[in-house]
Amino acid sequence: MTIDSSLLPSLIQAVSAAIEQHADEISALDQAIGDGDHVVNLQRGINALVAESTELATLDWPEAWEKIGMILMTTIGGASGSLFGSLFLAMGKAARGQPLSLPSFASSFAQGVAAVKRRGKSDVGEKTLLDVLGPVAEVLQHLAADGASLPKVLDEVNRVAEAGVEATRDMVPTKGRASFLGERAKGCLDPGAKSSQVMIAAILEVLASTSATPA
Ligand code: ADP
Ligand code: MG
Repeated sequence: MTIDSSLLPSLIQAVSAAIEQHADEISALDQAIGDGDHVVNLQRGINALVAESTELATLDWPEAWEKIGMILMTTIGGASGSLFGSLFLAMGKAARGQPLSLPSFASSFAQGVAAVKRRGKSDVGEKTLLDVLGPVAEVLQHLAADGASLPKVLDEVNRVAEAGVEATRDMVPTKGRASFLGERAKGCLDPGAKSSQVMIAAILEVLASTSATPA
């Protein structure tokens, strides 16, 4: 099986459907510890990707990631826009000229997450989307080093992303709007962590069904 960027329209469609399906749940989280706009922000970005998906499918992965980063940066808005934008822009830059493989993807994704940390002046443990992205970057690097099979990678990433969201529940936020609530935000999941996990799960599902079909 080859995972090439012709998959992008179905990946974007799956992400769009998953955010729609979880919209009420994620909005309720952002209403509880933010300002309630996270889903609307994300959907602006995802709709812009849907509009460009045919064009994106003609690019190679690094070019597509850079273009996705630029689109998200300029359309999402809010704190999360520049963070998701930075993730893809840095991934694309890191991957330039490299064929896609698990080790190269793991390395590019880790560089994307490092860019999110720089942009957000934040790290894992602060009740943000980094509590999903950080552990996912780490497990991908371990899986790549172990030469894990694709089904194992998909399972492990799914598990780590779910654990990452759940870990935000008892954290006290120190970055973003939620930090104004301090201790009062305890008991609530972080909306950006939840949306990240939902989008990752949707991507994993497409990859699982694609890899089940012989190329
Ligand atoms: P805003 O907070 O500007 O309304 P969104 O509602 O779109 O933006 O996104 C909120 C999410 O962004 C939070 O749930 C959190 O996961 C993430 N976030 C906010 N600030 C930071 C930061 N400095 N570093 C990492 N993630 C952050
Ligand atoms: Mg918000």
